Amino acid sequence: MTSTKYIFVTGGVSSSLGKGIIAASLAKLLQARGYRVTIQKLDPYINVDPGTLNPYEHGECYVTDDGAETDLDLGHYERFLNTPTSQANNVTTGKIYQSVIEKERRGEFLGKTVQVIPHITNEIKERIQILGKSGDYDIVITEIGGTVGDIESLPYIESVRQLKWELGDDNALVIHLTLIPYLSAAGELKTKPTQHSVKTLMESGIRADILVCRTEHELNQELKNKLALFCNVQKEAVIQSIDASTIYDVPNMMLDEGLDVITLQKLKLSNTTAPNLEHWNAFLKRHKNPKAEVTIGLIGKYVELQDSYKSIIESFIHAGAENEVKVNVRSIHSEHIDASNISEALKGLNGILVAPGFGERGIEGKIEAVRYARENKLPFLGICLGMQMAVIEYSRNVLGLQNANSIEMNPETPDPVINLMEDQKNITDMGGTMRLGSWECSLVKGSKVYEVYGKETIDERHRHRYEYNNAYREQLEAAGLATTGVNPKTGLVEIIEIPEHPFFVGVQYHPEYKSTVANPHPLFVSFVNAAHQHSK
Ligand code: GLN
Repeated sequence: MTSTKYIFVTGGVSSSLGKGIIAASLAKLLQARGYRVTIQKLDPYINVDPGTLNPYEHGECYVTDDGAETDLDLGHYERFLNTPTSQANNVTTGKIYQSVIEKERRGEFLGKTVQVIPHITNEIKERIQILGKSGDYDIVITEIGGTVGDIESLPYIESVRQLKWELGDDNALVIHLTLIPYLSAAGELKTKPTQHSVKTLMESGIRADILVCRTEHELNQELKNKLALFCNVQKEAVIQSIDASTIYDVPNMMLDEGLDVITLQKLKLSNTTAPNLEHWNAFLKRHKNPKAEVTIGLIGKYVELQDSYKSIIESFIHAGAENEVKVNVRSIHSEHIDASNISEALKGLNGILVAPGFGERGIEGKIEAVRYARENKLPFLGICLGMQMAVIEYSRNVLGLQNANSIEMNPETPDPVINLMEDQKNITDMGGTMRLGSWECSLVKGSKVYEVYGKETIDERHRHRYEYNNAYREQLEAAGLATTGVNPKTGLVEIIEIPEHPFFVGVQYHPEYKSTVANPHPLFVSFVNAAHQHSK
């Protein structure tokens, strides 16, 4: 018998209600009371992982230390809890079926007909309990993607029903997140969609234990009582989640509503120690009381969708609070900039970040932006593709290699300053085959990055196929583009910088995946600081 407690978070009425933020906020409160908590996301789509998805589909692809390409909600979990997630924290229908089909091919089902119930549901139940069985957690929160009633989430809902029955009410509970719409014509908040959604859950045999209600207006006690009665939950289990000005307010709002207390009561866990949110609240205070303001240009090609660069935007919030500076991020579409309008497009900025990305679209604009930052001593941070663009820009405009490029963009380039590693050349499968996850990097003493990190060896997360071409390293270094971080085992270049520039750093890895409220990423902190200096 397990001692781990399981919390399931389902959603109803509408998508995009913020299940991930509610799960992360509850986890934060439980963690702040001393419990060891982790959060898992189950995604009902058939892709094995979101690595092959265009950011326009589901936003950013988040990468863990162990190299899983995951849903962006895992980023929220890490940013709130400051504990790393792993492969086990994100499960998709694709992964479930892949594993069941592989078992079938190995003959593991001993001649049985393989079916959704029990084979798929057993696989789901196993995946849910992997984290609990590790012994590392007191509580596992599992967020079920999608909305109840969706055809594709049915096996997940059925697995939750079975698990709840197997584990017992003291060990498992269901939080259902819904929307209470406000009809302005009637001047009223409406509970009916929530009632229907709870009923849909009931049809699958699941009674919601706690209701979290997203709303734009306060829910009065009368309305909460009505919801409790018709949705069959305790009055204290109707929790209001009103729109917040920042997601980082949500843990305190859930604390005020007593979400953690009712959860602990239902799971028969002690709630005597008050949550310690001292550090969290100190961050909020700095975030909300900035002493100055800077504007940073985010140069990318998925800028129409905020979620595409989620971790970068959040990293700026952490780094801004650390510097007590408000960071305004201005999104600039790289396809819309060229030599003729660059100074106009970047006017008023205190720094630019050239974003990660794939493919040719918009790269000339990125290169032009790098050139502008280099020549005008505007603080620059290049991430992944952004770093590669800096190497190309330097090769073209300083070394004079006019057609220098990445072979991702031009396989015929005479000067492939960014090229493909030998072990990538024969890869045909696109999914899960990039250089992924945490890799070590040694920093050069006396460099900017050494000063920023304050140590010689760092680990950062990667997600890319192409690399700095070491054949050009000597020339580039002689011309002033310093190599200040290298993988000690492979010799691959991880960081470039221009020592004469106030802040010009390009990194092949993704620092944004490791920035949390408790640990703002040092590179973002010092970049924002440089932007602040620039603004003076
Ligand atoms: N497209 C580049 C590569 O594969 C950069 C990837 C990225 O920015 N994440 O190397």
